[in-house]
Amino acid sequence: MTEPAIVWFREDLRLADNPALTAACARGGPVLCVYILDEESEGVRAPGGAARWYLHHALAALSASLARSGGRLDLYRGPAETVLRDLVARSGAGALYWNRRYGGAEIALDARIKTACDGVCEVRSFNGKLLAEPWTVLNRSGAPFRVFTPFWRAAQDRIDHAPPLPAPARLVAAAPAGAPCALGALGLEPTGPDWAGGLRATWRAGEAAARERLAAFLDERLARYAAERDLPHVEATSRLSPSLAFGEISPRQIRAAVAHAVDAQPALARAADKFMSEVGWREFSWSLLFHFPDLPAVNFDRRFDAFPWRAEDEAARDIAAWTAGRTGYPLVDAGMRELWATGYMHNRVRMVAASFLIKHLLVDWRVGERWFWDTLCDADAANNAASWQWVAGCGADAAPYFRIFNPVLQGEKFDPDGAYVRRWLPELAATPAKFVHKPWTAPQRPADYPAPIVDHDFARRRALAAFERLRAV
Ligand SMILES: Cc1cc2nc3c(=O)[nH]c(=O)nc-3n(C[C@H](O)[C@H](O)[C@H](O)COP(=O)(O)OP(=O)(O)OC[C@H]3O[C@@H](n4cnc5c(N)ncnc54)[C@H](O)[C@@H]3O)c2cc1C
Repeated sequence: MTEPAIVWFREDLRLADNPALTAACARGGPVLCVYILDEESEGVRAPGGAARWYLHHALAALSASLARSGGRLDLYRGPAETVLRDLVARSGAGALYWNRRYGGAEIALDARIKTACDGVCEVRSFNGKLLAEPWTVLNRSGAPFRVFTPFWRAAQDRIDHAPPLPAPARLVAAAPAGAPCALGALGLEPTGPDWAGGLRATWRAGEAAARERLAAFLDERLARYAAERDLPHVEATSRLSPSLAFGEISPRQIRAAVAHAVDAQPALARAADKFMSEVGWREFSWSLLFHFPDLPAVNFDRRFDAFPWRAEDEAARDIAAWTAGRTGYPLVDAGMRELWATGYMHNRVRMVAASFLIKHLLVDWRVGERWFWDTLCDADAANNAASWQWVAGCGADAAPYFRIFNPVLQGEKFDPDGAYVRRWLPELAATPAKFVHKPWTAPQRPADYPAPIVDHDFARRRALAAFERLRAV
């Protein structure tokens, strides 16, 4: 009888196109599938509130799919190294497999576990997360790219073109080892109060739901993706971000499905390129995080270390207005309320809301990054940090610091009738379209909706003056 193989699920909560799981099954013996909620290992960032809620449901779905295939998902809580060493010893495992993660602390942890299990069992890792390994996409001098377009061009030659792996037809579950816990015991779902009603109404977690979302996107929305992806009142994007963050679907599966759609309908080619380039921004962000592991905490452009952010306590009231969606700027407020209610915000609105915090309120981008980390179902260490730095102007290939979004003009351009802001701001339900993005100018100012907490022209001048100081650095 072949010894059991342990598959350690992390950011790859799926059966199909899961190279670690496929390799474990190919050994021909029983498989012990485990997930460890690790909130203790050094530097590993614990998921935020909304992501914890999503994770609960993603694990429930993974557990159900494994059960249907004859397998079982065992859940543990604790430092991954301790849990795994114990599991390997108790189960007599001959192999420990996982799909790679690319954050600095996670890589260090995986390396420690590899060393600890060396000689005890075979330890192998696989790529289940990215189209191309970040250490293979380098410029001519062998350095990581700092600009997206050449990165994405070079990545095309590094992409693994093999078709995605099918889900294993049948698994043989190994006997449990140690003391796995029930899903509820992980404490991922909020209780007292249960604030997740809006999340439940918005998301269906799991691999099958992700595949269905992708298929619906390709059938119904890909053709108008390039034209409509910036319009927050239109559902024009894939909404795959939480599934990608938790690995319910792989970028390889997305790439293959997109290529299939284009084969069937060549007119989709341009829209498909645009969509895949957004998936490319995800690759770029993960490459940045791999090469610059401090990305979530340190300015990529170190000149910004001298930036005169307002102190957090001095800006506390403004930060509170921003998080609550009560800045007086409808597009910003609608986005922040969408985020709070659903764990998601449209990409265009994310840019405007982030820019407002950083440039209108002069608050350090890390404050916003932390809030998004806690409230997004798709919170993703690389995408979130790279995007916040991009908006701030200190990131790789970033928006120039002098690009200061005018939230009124952004609203009038991308939500001209105000359908999006009215959806999230009931106070503006009766405000005519002409005033809906600047309600303080309406003859009848909407009751209960705040006046702007800062004047746009003043804020713009203040931000430009602050950014000017960097020139001297
Ligand atoms: C301040 C800020 C914070 C952000 N934080 C996150 C985050 O924590 N997690 C996250 O997944 N995305 C983040 N994004 C990027 C982007 O807003 C979301 O990926 C996108 O809105 C998700 O919706 P979708 O799946 O419908 O996207 P689609 O347009 O359908 O794109 C498909 C996929 O491509 C990737 N993608 C799209 N746009 C970007 C981008 N600009 N950067 C990197 N990858 C991208 C995502 O994985 C997305 O699911 C952030 C953007 C900003 C401006």
